Formats: sequence, C-alpha cells, structure tokens
Amino acid sequence: MHADPAVEVTGLVKRYGDKTAVDGLDLTVRRGAITAVLGPNGAGKTTTIETCEGYRRPDAGTVRVLGLDPVADARQLRPRVGVMLQSGGVYAGARAVEMLRHTARLHADPLDVDTLVERLGLDSCGRTSYRRLSGGQQQRLALAMAVVGRPELVFLDEPTAGLDPQARRATWDLVRDLRRDGVSVVVTTHHMDEAEQLADRVAIVDRGRVIAEGSPEELCRDGAESSLHFEGPAGLDLGSLLKVLPDGSSVAEPRPGTYRIEAPLDPQLLATVTAWCASSGVMPEKLTVQRRSLEDVFLDLTGRDLRS
Ligand code: ATP
Repeated sequence: MHADPAVEVTGLVKRYGDKTAVDGLDLTVRRGAITAVLGPNGAGKTTTIETCEGYRRPDAGTVRVLGLDPVADARQLRPRVGVMLQSGGVYAGARAVEMLRHTARLHADPLDVDTLVERLGLDSCGRTSYRRLSGGQQQRLALAMAVVGRPELVFLDEPTAGLDPQARRATWDLVRDLRRDGVSVVVTTHHMDEAEQLADRVAIVDRGRVIAEGSPEELCRDGAESSLHFEGPAGLDLGSLLKVLPDGSSVAEPRPGTYRIEAPLDPQLLATVTAWCASSGVMPEKLTVQRRSLEDVFLDLTGRDLRS
C-alpha cells in the first residue's frame, strides 16, 4: 500500500485566453479510493482532469500523478492510468468490441474482454462500428477502454451523463469493483446523488477552486444542522419548545400542524423534543430526521444550486 497520494494537485491555474477556468485549485486523491470531483457546469472539473491526464499544461501550480509529471512522464504513465475519452482517439469506423480487444492486447494483464462487454451491456454491439453506436453505448465503450488494461488509476469524466438508469447502475457497480481491486478512481460529476452513492471522498469545485473536501458524511455533518420534523395538533406553543432546545436552534410551523426543528442533531436532541412532546401531551406523528445532502452543503457554501 502506497502512503503517497495517487494524485496531488497544488495551486493549479489554467486559463483560456482571459478566462480563468481553474484558479488555484488544490486536490489530493488517495490511493485505492473513489474520489468524486463535484461541481456545477463550468466549475473547472474537466480542465483539472485533462491537466492530470497530461492533455493540458498548467499555467501555474503543480500536478503529480502516481508521483510523476503527467506531461514529462507521459510514456511511463500511459500503461498505468486509464482515461475515459469521449470520442477523441477512437477510429469511428472501427468495430466496437474489436477495438476493445485490440486495446486489451496492448496491456500486460488485461481484464477479460467478454466479461467486461457483458457487464456493460455491450454484447449487442459486437460488429457495430463505433460511429453507429448510440451515445450511451459509445460512453460505455469508452469506460471499458479506460479500464480494460487494469490501470492503477482511472479518470472518468462524467461517466454516466445521459445513461439510462440501468446503464448508470452497471457503471457504478463497475467503478466499485475497480476500488475493490485497489484501483484509485477519480470521477467528475454534477450529480450529487452519484457522488453520495459512489465516493469515499468528495471535492466540491466552484469557480476553479475546491471549496470543500471530505467524505460525503463529513461534508454533510461539518458545521451542519439537520432538521427534525413531526406532525401534531396545530398551534403548539413553540416558544416553550425553543426554551428547552440548545442555543441557536430554530422551530417553525410551516403549515398548521407540521413542525420543523433546526438544530445540531444528536440523540439528546431527539430525547429533548420527545420529552417536551410528552410533557405537552402531544403525540409526535411522522417524526423524521432529515440529514443535509451534498446539494444542501453546496447551496450553503455558494448560495447557488449545484445544477444551475
Ligand atoms: P461541465 O460540468 O460543464 O463539464 P466543468 O466543471 O468540467 O464543466 P470546464 O469544462 O473545465 O468545467 O470549464 C471551465 C471553464 O473554462 C468554463 O467556463 C468553460 O467555458 C471554459 N473552457 C473550457 N474549455 C475551454 C476551451 N478549450 N477554450 C475556452 N474556454 C474553455
């Protein structure tokens, strides 16, 4: 097990003309984990990944991939790093599965092509040329090409964009299997559910910088308040409830008989609320706890929606 990270990005700056796409971005990707780079359109995710893949040179800052320089050491990195290309690098007239077999033969210890083809539902496209595949099939083929060589590190740029739910799930399963086999995975997405489902670590990128980083649980918990909801008779005396709650809590009745309490969530909070209900002779119906999602965290940090 390596102690050093799979990817280390420090102070990365990348400009396109006078547009700064990446603006001092720091990112550490741990080995053997799935790291999601999450952010809205135009945040700089693709530019960052393409720099890590060696396709773009930093204007400032440094990028190390498996301890090497992605541009200067490209030859050494190529067999060790899987890259999901959208369509570039693929000969459009080539037959899909043949292309995959060819790629597999270029590697010392490839995955079994037939198994991979079956898992990604590509069996029906065996003799079809790349250009005649549907968008979703092209995408799954690109994923297969990225992983068939059994790389140590894989970059997946929005691997499930435009896929149907079944193909999306197959992709997630494949990514989890890569982790099980010790592969480090970097996946960009602007779907917070994808990050929550897949990632051990999440880096939230906005305007060319990482604005928060941690496990999904840490990000949703850090400094975060959760909310408690229940239903009961309308018009309860919320002032008396607020008195027994920790400082900084809030209580509201957004609709008659529906209550929402915002406070740091711990077992004591639940005990306090139910004790107050008991002493008030109120049966709290539909008592639920709502944890914050990554989407809420993003909204709090930026005041904007992830999808905007
Ligand atoms: P998305 O989720 O939409 O893919 P992203 O987070 O991957 O977005 P990038 O594609 O890295 O973001 O783009 C960051 C910014 O740089 C955007 O404002 C984009 O318009 C701009 N940009 C990206 N590529 C180029 C280019 N080749 N020339 C000029 N501007 C570019």
